[in-house]
Amino acid sequence: MNTIREIGTIRKKWRDRLPIALVFPHLYSVGMANLGFLSLYETLNREEDLVCERFFWSEDLSRLRSLESERPLRDFALVLFSVPFEADYPRVLQILLAAGLPLNPRKRRLPVLAGGIALWLNPRPLFPFLDGFLLGELEALNRALIEALRKGGENKPLLLEQLSRVPGFLHPEGPFPVNIAKAPELRRPLVSHLRSPEAEFGECQLVEVTRGCGQGCRFCAAGYLYRPPRRPPADTFPEIFSELAPGVKVGLIGLEFLPQEEIVTFARELLRRGHGLSFSSLRVDALREELKELFSGTRTLTLAPEAGSPRLRRIINKRLPEETILSAARRLKTWPVRRLKLYFMFGLPGETEEDLRAIAQLAGKIRELSGKEITVSLSPFVPKPWTPFQWARFEDPEILKKKARFLKRLLLRQGIRVSLESVRMARLQALLSRGKEDLAPLLTGLARGEPLSRLLRTPPDSIRPIFSGFEPGSPLPWEEVVRTGLDRDFLFQEWEKALRAEESPPCPSTRKCRRCGACLTLYGSS
Ligand code: SF4
Repeated sequence: MNTIREIGTIRKKWRDRLPIALVFPHLYSVGMANLGFLSLYETLNREEDLVCERFFWSEDLSRLRSLESERPLRDFALVLFSVPFEADYPRVLQILLAAGLPLNPRKRRLPVLAGGIALWLNPRPLFPFLDGFLLGELEALNRALIEALRKGGENKPLLLEQLSRVPGFLHPEGPFPVNIAKAPELRRPLVSHLRSPEAEFGECQLVEVTRGCGQGCRFCAAGYLYRPPRRPPADTFPEIFSELAPGVKVGLIGLEFLPQEEIVTFARELLRRGHGLSFSSLRVDALREELKELFSGTRTLTLAPEAGSPRLRRIINKRLPEETILSAARRLKTWPVRRLKLYFMFGLPGETEEDLRAIAQLAGKIRELSGKEITVSLSPFVPKPWTPFQWARFEDPEILKKKARFLKRLLLRQGIRVSLESVRMARLQALLSRGKEDLAPLLTGLARGEPLSRLLRTPPDSIRPIFSGFEPGSPLPWEEVVRTGLDRDFLFQEWEKALRAEESPPCPSTRKCRRCGACLTLYGSS
């Protein structure tokens, strides 16, 4: 950790300050590309009486120390995990074990909390290990959280009592359900200031231009969880220019819901000011000619058709006709990018062999029309809570492996490169995203390095529906503890439409809309 190069590190003296350990349960490179984690670090350190230092997971945890002052985890008054992915849960436990902290919260003097989008989906698998969860957006938690930290200080029972008044705080013993705290308005774009060449996307400052996406892709948990889509007023965008370091690359997040003209205007201004650009994601149907100039410094462009056949794209509500994809590919021929990375999922509900063949055919056509090098990235589909696919089963891992081999063969035969997400990791994600507290022995075993297959020889009861599908009439484990503002009836109607391969329109993004329930929950009936 000592050799890490970064700009913007905040080092504060500890005297008369409450020390908070902010822990990212993954590699430094991944954490440094996470805007939520970076923003929380800056927010806590802006408070005069708090000092926040970072910890990251690494393969070797034998010398787990904070990055800023090299202190051990035990020296802090509070541990706060930022958890964006379910697959990080075993690493949360590994960090506690490496720090010599008991996994049982009752046996621990130090309060250990966690937040992050994976936990909004379903925090239950971590209930046996943590003292509490902060479920909500930073803007919505911010002041109340800081006040609770101040009043609770180093006294764990007092801190937990104070936290129980913070919107979005969930104690593993209840009361349930807890509403996820969201900000009705975004005052201005969120910008990160800490940067490192070792971050996943290289040395850049991240800028969130909109939050949430109303496209309604039925597999996308983030798309549903961050509803309603929100954006800061357009006249606040120029405010951030003064916060960007000269010539720094800017990573734009949340472009899916920004009108095309605004993307172009904002990005042009950044280029004019000498910044490089990187785009987290762009819809295939947004690739118009006007955007070409913005990609002059980009080598690889990522596109996500997600499914190969038009029927399967209707099932997942991607709303992307074949011709739109092909004309985008034709247009890309003259663009300066060298490589295209195409994302596809397999193991989707209603998938047939023809749908798998369609992936290889579509990738082949895109290569022919665009003239670019193509890499196809294949991921086994994992149904997520709070999406219309929350009732769906996770495909049998043996069948997924067969499908992966079949797809790989078809693509390699055409000379198309393939990158494949492991079925093992997808199975783990599937278990952790829709599982319950009875996964505790499995999580503990994983944290101690036992193989998943051995741990699943005596599977807990709650995992059966993950592989067979959840009953539509029964309460779902995550619904019992959290509320996202989304109507169950809306999600179920979307599930039924998926089974009929019917599309739905995108979110109209008007506060008076009552379609999915998110606007009524956030803005009320006024
Ligand atoms: S209620 Fe309507 S406008 Fe609001 S998030 Fe849902 S679909 Fe979009």
